[in-house]
Amino acid sequence: MKRILLALLLAATPALAFPDRPVALIIPFAAGGPTDVLGRTLAEAMSRGLGVAVTAENVTGAGGTIGGARVANARPDGHTLLLGNIGVATVTAQFRNPPYDPLVAFAPIGLISPVPMVVIGRTSLPVRDFPGLIAWLRETGLGVNLAHAGVGSASHLCMTLLRSLIHTEMTAIAFRGTAPVMTEIMAGRVDISCDQTTSAMPFVTDGRVRAFAVTSPARLPQIPEVPTAGQAGLPGLEVSIWHGLYAPRGTPDAITQRLAQALRVALAEPRVVARLADLATTPEPPERVTPEALRAHLADEVARWTPVLRAAGEFAD
Ligand code: ASP
Repeated sequence: MKRILLALLLAATPALAFPDRPVALIIPFAAGGPTDVLGRTLAEAMSRGLGVAVTAENVTGAGGTIGGARVANARPDGHTLLLGNIGVATVTAQFRNPPYDPLVAFAPIGLISPVPMVVIGRTSLPVRDFPGLIAWLRETGLGVNLAHAGVGSASHLCMTLLRSLIHTEMTAIAFRGTAPVMTEIMAGRVDISCDQTTSAMPFVTDGRVRAFAVTSPARLPQIPEVPTAGQAGLPGLEVSIWHGLYAPRGTPDAITQRLAQALRVALAEPRVVARLADLATTPEPPERVTPEALRAHLADEVARWTPVLRAAGEFAD
């Protein structure tokens, strides 16, 4: 009789049974990039808190929207999650036919960490500082090969801002993430990009790519010699890449709250805090690692970037 009652109780309240199998954490960009680096750190830590395996799975393409659509269409049972960056908020403004409305398609779980960006270039460029780079970009124009991780990605957002701020059209080349972008910059096959410090930092500090400016309000202690874009003459180029964890729309609140709690515990682990510090970022404070905080921040960011990006133009179909 007890077993029947327990089965009925579990069937009636899925949250009590959650999680009952491994959780897939969809990373919508290529392995080795900033989202992947953050995602694998989180997956390992959340496995400990949830008591089941949290497996990072790269589902790439279309500026992160292939992976986003995978989660948007998944069963809302908490076992398929999306690690999204600011691109979740910019997709509406950058696609003529957005694959989903991020304000409707997801059940937010919590904010994760803000990550600054760094404008980078191949070391063989004929300029060594940001003002010189801007002058070279303006005179080279479409001869500049700028690389990004697809329309809708953070690097594309940063390059769109740069392009509109210096009123210069350049040749844009899309990749499945900024990991392959970094390879192309080191090989000298593309000229510039903008990447999150989460993965760019090692390439900058050992001189494999050149850092020209950071897009944060202040210099980064890890690379104090690199000025902010504002200090180097382009104050409009300020963008912080934030990350959020999402489940599909319709996921029961009890499950999203359970996941938010596991995320808060993971972000408080000393080894996670130390790993994020190596990547020039820090965890969001606990009061922002909640469904309510992510929902509000996502709405604010959609409202902020939609007019900016629509004015800058360049849509993906
Ligand atoms: N976050 C992407 C990646 O991990 C890069 C981007 O959004 O620009 O590759």
